[in-house]
Amino acid sequence: MSTKSFREATIAIRGGRALDSHASSILFPLYQTGNFVHDAVGVDKGYSYSRVSNPTVDALEGSLAALEGTPSAVSFRTGMAAITTLCFSLLRSGDHAILSDVIYGGTMRLFREVLNPLGIHGDFIDTSNTVNIEASIRPETRLILIETPGNPTLKITDIQAISRIARRHSILLAVDNTFLTPILQRPFELGADISILSTTKYIDGHNATVGGSLATHDEQLTERLRLIRKTLGTIQAPFEAWLTLQGIKTLPMRLRLHCAGALRIAKWLEIHPAVKYVFYPGLPSFPQQALAAQQQRGGGGIVAFELKGGAEAARQTLNRLQLCSRAESLGGVETLVTHPSTTTHADLDPDLRQALGISDGLIRISVGLEDPEDLIADLGQAIAATGSHLRARKDKL
Ligand SMILES: *Cc1c(COP(=O)(O)O)cnc(C)c1O
Repeated sequence: MSTKSFREATIAIRGGRALDSHASSILFPLYQTGNFVHDAVGVDKGYSYSRVSNPTVDALEGSLAALEGTPSAVSFRTGMAAITTLCFSLLRSGDHAILSDVIYGGTMRLFREVLNPLGIHGDFIDTSNTVNIEASIRPETRLILIETPGNPTLKITDIQAISRIARRHSILLAVDNTFLTPILQRPFELGADISILSTTKYIDGHNATVGGSLATHDEQLTERLRLIRKTLGTIQAPFEAWLTLQGIKTLPMRLRLHCAGALRIAKWLEIHPAVKYVFYPGLPSFPQQALAAQQQRGGGGIVAFELKGGAEAARQTLNRLQLCSRAESLGGVETLVTHPSTTTHADLDPDLRQALGISDGLIRISVGLEDPEDLIADLGQAIAATGSHLRARKDKL
């Protein structure tokens, strides 16, 4: 029975799943092995060495491909291993790439530290304004890499509008879809050529692994990605693949709850007197709400907000949290709260940080699956304590 016609909850649990031909276990087995025996010289069962391929990693790729709606997917040890392999597969010295200014910090570092010195140049621009794309295209531009919504302000880039420009200039368009996954955003239906996922986040969903994935309808490109993955040694490990396979089963259900919890918290923050501004694509006040509603199937699980009290209030709030964890990363069942200006975006020039809307009072929440009312109670006590602290100080002055 083809899984193509199934709906997303069924696809997540059954889609592209490999069957265990050995003992018919309900879960696909973990092939925790580095290598495979050849039956005779030149005769094997399709596997030889786990840097090249591994049955459990193949099983994960089948499941990811079913989610993406592509013929296959290629799985990597981390999201950065996926992005690195993509860049080395497509770009050579003299080539140029256009990237979102709000792209993942690791991607920016990859260009700065590794690719630029090799003669591969990247321009980081505000891709939410499509005019900027046309203006940045050069004869040697090979790749446009966008991330939407952007981190941490959730700025949205119009995938369809950019795919039209990319197509006109025969440039490949890759979308880092880590924040929404194929459940909430369908890059290929909007004209993208390549989908990138850090499976570390929502795909695994349990803060148990790090991993990455690339998918495309172009089977020649898929072969190239596999060749460069084998060369760089960036393939996913069997145990992480096995864990990720379990996480994927609940992805659609988890995302529904992440979205509902994030919207509840965003609405609560929006009317809180200590809060200056809330960034959440599901709020009517979000500047790009119309584009978000058209391009995404939900607001996602990330909420950012700015405290009126600035950096000090943000620091105090984070330090007083009792239920929410102060941690980088996102997309898991545990709620994680970060202060972007001193953690994820600390490397950036302060002026650039300001230009990107990342103020020192900005806090990012990856809303987990704890009860939203418990999360609100924790955020409430942490923010309230900060407010009284500031008032007390003002009284003394
Ligand atoms: C985390 C993340 C990455 C990098 O993934 P790792 O698994 O940490 O290497 C890339 N893009 C986005 C949007 C991310 O959030």
